[in-house]
Amino acid sequence: MTAQLIDGKAVAKTIEAEVVAAIARLGIAPGLVAVRVGNDPASEVYVRSKAKKARELGLRGDELILPESTSEAELLAHIGRLNDDDSIDGILVQLPLPAQINAQKVIDAIDPAKDVDGFHPINVGRRHLGRPPLAPCTPAGGIRRSESTGTAITGSNAVVIGRSDIVGKPMAALLLQRNATVTIAHSRTSDLASVVRTADIIVAAVGKPLLVTREMVEPGAIVIDVGMNRLGSADATLVAHDEEKSRLLAKNGTVLVGDVDFSRVREVAGWITPVPGGVGPMTIAMLMRNTVTAAEWRRR
Ligand code: NAP
Repeated sequence: MTAQLIDGKAVAKTIEAEVVAAIARLGIAPGLVAVRVGNDPASEVYVRSKAKKARELGLRGDELILPESTSEAELLAHIGRLNDDDSIDGILVQLPLPAQINAQKVIDAIDPAKDVDGFHPINVGRRHLGRPPLAPCTPAGGIRRSESTGTAITGSNAVVIGRSDIVGKPMAALLLQRNATVTIAHSRTSDLASVVRTADIIVAAVGKPLLVTREMVEPGAIVIDVGMNRLGSADATLVAHDEEKSRLLAKNGTVLVGDVDFSRVREVAGWITPVPGGVGPMTIAMLMRNTVTAAEWRRR
């Protein structure tokens, strides 16, 4: 059996179409501001692509770029101003922040109604109470990718590997909301393989290359790989069995892999997400969805 591929880019397109339709219903262009502090190159790319996608879909997408030296008080003052600005529906602060700024304080300062990353404690609490609407974008995208297989989440056994506040825990909460029986595994889980073997749906959100092996996966399982790991030439043996990844590594000097041993797991899984394979576009699409949802809720 060879798993069917979950096409993250195609699912992202579907969500983008929903966003365009929701904006048309709303009759206004919701405003999203992506805040970046400093010059981290990855953050620069993320923030620019988020603001650009917003404009492409008919939102008002702005970037607020602040210098590396920005103090916590200065950033909090900007957040306060964006909270008070009625034309802004969504505020996103790109993490990580420079060392002088306490990220938790900044997240706590964002108006929960505009917290389109879904990280504010009020939104975490709402999620665990089963109340909508703003869920973190990467886990929400994982749910949409799982649903795109047409297999019901209700009644399934789901194992989420990883318990971070931004991926693992919200992923588990969203699966529970959808009536899965959820197990959360982490670095202290004993016998990870037997735990993962109970899963109809596996979500890997660890950051350890190829942690999930073929032996851990029951035939037919849905495998959602959230992990992003960049390997270099020193890691060549790790991907020696994977022709495609080895070829890319030899050609480019680095290669991106997930937390799942894709080339072997795909031989047993029912559905699987390749890495790379649309997690980025999915996450951005869910951010746009959240911004429109925030705009709808603020105008009810
Ligand atoms: P994180 O904060 O480092 O959390 C990793 C989790 O994995 C922790 O809960 C840790 O357990 C667990 N873990 C570590 N080693 C393990 C092992 N051997 N067995 C089982 N569990 C283990 O990472 P994160 O922020 O959640 O990100 C996870 C992955 O998703 C990363 O590869 C990241 O790059 C990727 N990611 C992608 C996106 C995207 O949009 N593409 C967004 C976010 C994250 P403990 O809690 O016990 O330490």
